Amino acid sequence: QATAHIIDGKAAARRLRETVAIEVSRLQQAHGLRPGLAVVLVGQDPASDIYVRNKGRQTNEAGMLSREYRLDASVSEAEVLELIDTLNRDPEIHGILAQLPMPAHIDEQRVIETISPQKDVDGFHPLNAGELANGTPGALVPCTPLGCLFMLREHFHGDLSGQNALVIGRSNIVGKPMAQLLLQESCTVTIAHSRTRDLPAVCRRADIVVAAVGRPEMVRGDWVAPGAVVMDVGINRLPVEGGKSRLVGDVAFDEVCQVASAITPVPGGVGPMTIACLLRNTVIAACRQAGVSCEL
Ligand code: NDP
Repeated sequence: QATAHIIDGKAAARRLRETVAIEVSRLQQAHGLRPGLAVVLVGQDPASDIYVRNKGRQTNEAGMLSREYRLDASVSEAEVLELIDTLNRDPEIHGILAQLPMPAHIDEQRVIETISPQKDVDGFHPLNAGELANGTPGALVPCTPLGCLFMLREHFHGDLSGQNALVIGRSNIVGKPMAQLLLQESCTVTIAHSRTRDLPAVCRRADIVVAAVGRPEMVRGDWVAPGAVVMDVGINRLPVEGGKSRLVGDVAFDEVCQVASAITPVPGGVGPMTIACLLRNTVIAACRQAGVSCEL
């Protein structure tokens, strides 16, 4: 029975982090430039806490400066905006990341729009989203879709043109920027969402499926065309016996493995590439702010 090639996101992320670390040491030697990333975390979300710790560790390992700001859940929106404003003016900091979700009394969009577009390494600022939509070269692109794109490019040896690509999900964080990136690669792009009619049939027409929905194992084996390439962005925690939980994606992995030609696992697929892309974006932002060329 045919089984899909498992795209190794951990290995891809390791390679990208190594490239980033080499560039960081070159920048340090050639220009005395040390890229710096500040992460702002408000409140006590356990998943966010793990992400922030991983980001800090990997930033340090790449030879960059990492700063974490952990604010109490009761902090006012004005205080968060004030901190971001201070970081916008801090010459040691080249990238600012506001960890989402924020507590309900804080307007996330206002936080995102307060981050200087030059330091917006998450690529969520409307100016950066607009540049991506316009196809402006060198736009700061959201890390999760960027990581997916790097893995797809590698899989297709750099040429995605003419592929029928389906993106399931239309969030500003994943779905929309993913669709823009695939369009830039000259794919024929379809964007599906909760109002899409007969999603299984739409899915069966796709050569590339990117699932970014947040619904455990929604994409079934009989939705996928034989030979399709499936990128699973979903991270869903399913309770199992003994009060424990296990992570699953938006794709029914075992079923889809039997039909697809390649698939990313969860965990170990799209997730690890996200942080590696964050480091890359921070180095690119640092080079731009310092007016030096970047070899990434
Ligand atoms: P959102 O909840 O913001 O968006 C989900 C999208 O899925 C929406 O556009 C929604 O449609 C669509 N959708 C929901 N139900 C269905 C359905 N039944 N059929 C078709 N479409 C549907 O989620 P995100 O984009 O932020 O994240 C998506 C997933 O990716 C989550 O599991 C999240 O945990 C994961 N994620 C993983 C990251 C990583 O590093 N690997 C980073 C970010 C997210 P509509 O717009 O119509 O409501």
